[in-house]
Amino acid sequence: MTHQSTFMGFLGGYREQGRSCLLISGSNYSVLIDAGIKKTYSGGRYGEVPYLNLADPQRLDAVLVTHLHEDHFAMVPYLIKKGFTGPVYMTEETLELGVRYWRKWAKIFESDGRKLFSEDDVEEAIKHVRPIRFGDIVEVGDFVAKFKISGHAPGSAYLEVRAGERNILYLADIAKGTNVFKDPEPPEETTYDVIILNASYGDRVIGRDATEKAISEEITDIVKRGGTALLPITAMGRGQETLAVLMKYRSALGNAPILVEDTVLTGFNALTKYTSTVRVNVLENLLDNLRRDEHVVVFKREELRDIPLSGAVILVSDLMLMGFSREVFMKIKDDPKSAVIITGYQAPGTFGRALMKAGDTGIFKFGDQIISFKCSVKVLPIKTHFDLAENVSLLTRLRAWGSAKLVLHHGEEPNTFRLAHALTRYTNVENIVMPSVPSFMYLV
Ligand SMILES: [Zn+2]
Ligand SMILES: [Zn+2]
Repeated sequence: MTHQSTFMGFLGGYREQGRSCLLISGSNYSVLIDAGIKKTYSGGRYGEVPYLNLADPQRLDAVLVTHLHEDHFAMVPYLIKKGFTGPVYMTEETLELGVRYWRKWAKIFESDGRKLFSEDDVEEAIKHVRPIRFGDIVEVGDFVAKFKISGHAPGSAYLEVRAGERNILYLADIAKGTNVFKDPEPPEETTYDVIILNASYGDRVIGRDATEKAISEEITDIVKRGGTALLPITAMGRGQETLAVLMKYRSALGNAPILVEDTVLTGFNALTKYTSTVRVNVLENLLDNLRRDEHVVVFKREELRDIPLSGAVILVSDLMLMGFSREVFMKIKDDPKSAVIITGYQAPGTFGRALMKAGDTGIFKFGDQIISFKCSVKVLPIKTHFDLAENVSLLTRLRAWGSAKLVLHHGEEPNTFRLAHALTRYTNVENIVMPSVPSFMYLV
């Protein structure tokens, strides 16, 4: 048998968080895994795209998408526009819940003049999708991939890949112990040549119980002193996760009103359908508790001006404060009793990132505006990725130390470096790869 080499192209999502995109090719296959967007704002533009043209869309055989989040999913229609004609594999949930993001980006690219893809390209892309189930195998020449439950989002997967003679584990976004999603399936305990790890949290160990307790204590303090606790979240996943935490500690909050934007409830109903990845019982119980709680108020955006905010918790589905969360922030910002609780990733250039950096200085610049504030800003992550301890325990179980190349993915540079440093306690530094974007690696 001739020795084949496997090519890996890192087209986005390395030493940065967002626009995940990996090309794997060999003598008879060329496959793209994820094609996301980076939700940064710079120079008046929203969204940075991966180096998709380096993948040569016309020569690609297949695209595999791990989950519906925009940083993995958003740019598929661009490939279609550029002449990709093959199948796009993803779970049914990913397509159903994600397709609105394709439409959203078609509008953004239309209005900013970039015209990277249109609504017609979106319709065309939908036709290329081959829905798959967990455990299904995708085969393209000498490339074989298996979709496994990753515990991070509805229908989310990680991938076990056999590329020519090489075993690659692409962990994508993976999480354990969330309130909403079922835990990930264990990967096959084989010898991996390459493991692509998630570096979102760098070298941090985030105890879930401790963080949940810290969030609830913080919020209890805020509402007891008559302030407003603003929690920017996402409507699908983080919103439900946050509500699960609040309801767990409901008694500490007393009768404080919990104001929930209606899209979070719509998200609930959508999620309960997805029995393969969602803890449906937990969600249904949570929904029951919310319905029975007379201090839970579900509101539409236009109704908010009539609702008193003091002493309340408010959940708004705009994680990075670029829209409605920012409007709510403007209402509460000069009240020293109030606080914004940052629960998730804030991309560079977003209002949330600027606010987070301003911390307790009380002033920052955003675009041409000077924003002053008296409320406090707390960063308390609701965990949706593996932390250092979980990464280490998985690698130990797979006996990966010394045998696998560990590629660090999905973390901004400081977090990527911190994770690399932490991993040198277990493996030689030559086994840790921190690709820049774009770059490539041959496995020979
Ligand atoms: Zn994700
Ligand atoms: Zn991601």
